[in-house]
Amino acid sequence: MDYFEYRDGIYHGEDVSLETIAATVGTPCYVYSRATLERHWHAFNDSFGDYPHTVYYAVKANSNLAVLNVLARLGSSFDIVSIGELERVIHAGGRSEQVVFSGVGKRLDEIERAVDVGIQCFNIETVAELDRIESTAAAKSCVVNIAVRINPDVDAGTHPYISTGLKENKFGLTADDAIDVYRRAAASAHLNVSGVACHIGSQLTRMEPFEDAFARVLEFVGRLEGEGISLDHIDFGGGLGVRYRDETPPHPTEYTERLVACLKQHGVSLPVTIEPGRVIAANAGVFLTRIEYLKDTQARNFAIVDGAMNDLIRPALYQSWQEVVSVRKADKSVPQRTYDIVGPVCESADFLGKERELAVRAGDLLAIRSAGAYGHVMSSNYNARPKPAEVMVDKDRFYVIRERETIEQMVAGEHLLPE
Ligand SMILES: *Cc1c(COP(=O)(O)O)cnc(C)c1O
Repeated sequence: MDYFEYRDGIYHGEDVSLETIAATVGTPCYVYSRATLERHWHAFNDSFGDYPHTVYYAVKANSNLAVLNVLARLGSSFDIVSIGELERVIHAGGRSEQVVFSGVGKRLDEIERAVDVGIQCFNIETVAELDRIESTAAAKSCVVNIAVRINPDVDAGTHPYISTGLKENKFGLTADDAIDVYRRAAASAHLNVSGVACHIGSQLTRMEPFEDAFARVLEFVGRLEGEGISLDHIDFGGGLGVRYRDETPPHPTEYTERLVACLKQHGVSLPVTIEPGRVIAANAGVFLTRIEYLKDTQARNFAIVDGAMNDLIRPALYQSWQEVVSVRKADKSVPQRTYDIVGPVCESADFLGKERELAVRAGDLLAIRSAGAYGHVMSSNYNARPKPAEVMVDKDRFYVIRERETIEQMVAGEHLLPE
């Protein structure tokens, strides 16, 4: 559930009309709802009841400082995949001891910085990564916590670009490779074997792949115990899907119940960590854009808007469907027609929605729903378009949490060759 809805025919985020935001901040822009972010985070955190757990928000879904700060105030921990994300968490008031570092390609400088600030745990994905982390810890005379990300070889049943748990994917290690890493880590004076991790993909809408993955990870935990290696937590990653259109993903409560049931079945009572991103942020945001022109051709009707694939790439990249709503419900005089909603970028991939029934005129505002995750974070300057602003609504107030990029900012750091 989210806090975007019509009130008296005008689409609102909480108590603020999106028309007011567009008039003040301009378009295109992203609009997030604080209450929705908080509600989604609590839905996960509360679903565990008494079971020992920690929620690590996956920063890559939406890394705006204000978003991170709202979650940090709830006590959230954070899952990062780069040093840039670590610095963002620190800037936003998050605590480095509550950070887990995932990702297949951690550079030496990233590992050094993460060791310096004292993060909670490194999730290792490559055998050689262990050596880098160990030698960094040795050089700094400290002990760091590690977990190994297992690739359970299960099909997440999601878009191939966001499936990560198949053996042909670059992510994680097979159980056999992982055992070697654990043996070496257990023998090291500078590494502490802390956990085991897994993350099989994103936008999962069924429980079965999760349960297959849980079972394989838990079998692996048994194998480690057989080796005399004990853990202090199991990290089940993120990936729970959201409703964009008519998907019926499990509710966080169902997800957690099945997860805890799996643990019991395997006789495991270790603390659990999860890394949700999309399920917290996606439906906590919309992308607000204005129609510049309506263009009718023989084949199609186009609504040409001021937002584009550089601002919101999910439709172009994953052929994903996001609901398009007109911010003001039209009166009867405006005909309802079928439109493709397209931006000004010079590519036919530049669409935000196809074949949508809308009653709109040029100048009207559209809200593209479910844009809070993998939206602004994936934006670019393609076609030399400055990045859009971001706004956070909090009850009847709203705050610009990222200013619209200026042309000066966009070209800053570029240099001409000398004469
Ligand atoms: C992307 C990612 C997540 C978050 O995935 P969502 O689908 O957004 O919940 C969690 N953990 C890892 C390791 C990731 O790469």
